[in-house]
Amino acid sequence: MVDFSLSDEEKQVRDWVRTFVRKEVIPLEQEVLRRERANQPGLTADVLKELQDKAKASGFWGVQTPEEYGGMGLGAVMSALLEAELGRSFVQFRFGGHADNILYYANDEQKRRYLLPTLSGERKSCFAITEPGAGSDARNIRTSARQDGTDWIINGEKTFITGGNEADFTMVFAVTDKDKHSKGHTDQSVTCFLVDRDQGWRSEYIDTMGEWGPAALVFEDVRVPQENILGEVGNGFALAMKWIGRGRYMLPARALGACERLVEMAVEQANTRVTFGEPIANRQAIQWMIADSAVEIEALRWLVLHAAWVVDQGQDSRHWQSIAKLYGGVKANEIVDRVLQIHGGMGYTRELPVERWYRELRLLRIYEGTDEIQRRTIARNILKGHASVSGTLG
Ligand SMILES: Cc1cc2nc3c(=O)[nH]c(=O)nc-3n(C[C@H](O)[C@H](O)[C@H](O)COP(=O)(O)OP(=O)(O)OC[C@H]3O[C@@H](n4cnc5c(N)ncnc54)[C@H](O)[C@@H]3O)c2cc1C
Repeated sequence: MVDFSLSDEEKQVRDWVRTFVRKEVIPLEQEVLRRERANQPGLTADVLKELQDKAKASGFWGVQTPEEYGGMGLGAVMSALLEAELGRSFVQFRFGGHADNILYYANDEQKRRYLLPTLSGERKSCFAITEPGAGSDARNIRTSARQDGTDWIINGEKTFITGGNEADFTMVFAVTDKDKHSKGHTDQSVTCFLVDRDQGWRSEYIDTMGEWGPAALVFEDVRVPQENILGEVGNGFALAMKWIGRGRYMLPARALGACERLVEMAVEQANTRVTFGEPIANRQAIQWMIADSAVEIEALRWLVLHAAWVVDQGQDSRHWQSIAKLYGGVKANEIVDRVLQIHGGMGYTRELPVERWYRELRLLRIYEGTDEIQRRTIARNILKGHASVSGTLG
């Protein structure tokens, strides 16, 4: 039997986050918009910490962090449900106690220096694979690390690195075997290094159409000791794929929450805005925009939850995650466009969060695998018989 209901415990957890977002996060929105209009970070580090501490006092810390590290160790479905609740506000709130999944592959000493301080919020990391010449085609990276005694010397440039300006260490991917790399053996030629900012890399902010810009990272003869290698020499690409594949369902989950809130705003606007003597809600043109959005939100919900459920089953979820990410990116952009249209001129102003979401949701179609790369993955899986259009019930 297929059961679409949540357990009482799941509902309780979800409802706690829903209330937290309504009472603590949404009230900050106007101040965040005001600060962003003044080119300041919307949510300051102090306010974020204060919110995280409040959530922690109720046990919400390290949502996906294993319990042995003090986290909640929630599964994928529960995490997706919580992410959708957080997505109902554009304020960039996230729970404390999170660390990149690949830091758990660190040895004990590295865990002490990087993983634990990241979980406690003392240190900030960034994940650096993309380069000016290698984005979708990540296997084409050129940043290199040359061995010198027991040290490695890193040279190269990374680009579009989220948090790269704020991070005090990076997980950077560099070619350590040029010969194998030139023959396409990326699974043996790339290594991941944990590199502190004070070991010599620098960052430059990149202005984007979103509110928080990524950074370019520059490595010029940056010397790091052997003990800064994460995992094994040559297995960096596998780690990078683990990072990217850690939870693609989480991006469309956040977009799902945004779409729900946006359509609620559109409904309010449609019912109250009067033109030619009647609320615009009476017009079929507006009704169809709301109906299409409602159908797509429902479809997105089940794609996200299904992808997360496959993760929880311990099965290969890549195909389902690509489907959810592609659909979420495309539909969230169509929905925010309709909601902006329903708001008319006001939708285009910075008085309302609609235009902000319009710019932010655009990124979903680009990072962590563009629409085209998701389609490439989905088509390949089907054409090669790794997945079928009959889905998991097939
Ligand atoms: C705000 C932001 C944050 C980011 N954060 C990070 C981060 O933290 N760490 C990190 O390492 N990277 C990060 N990225 C990089 C991001 O993952 C890449 O931008 C993305 O993978 C696309 O690569 P590209 O920009 O080089 O585009 P390209 O790969 O040059 O692609 C250009 C266009 O060609 C299409 N295309 C490419 N190949 C094919 C193909 N085979 N078939 C059909 N179409 C194709 C693409 O879909 C796209 O439309 C971030 C990017 C942005 C914008």
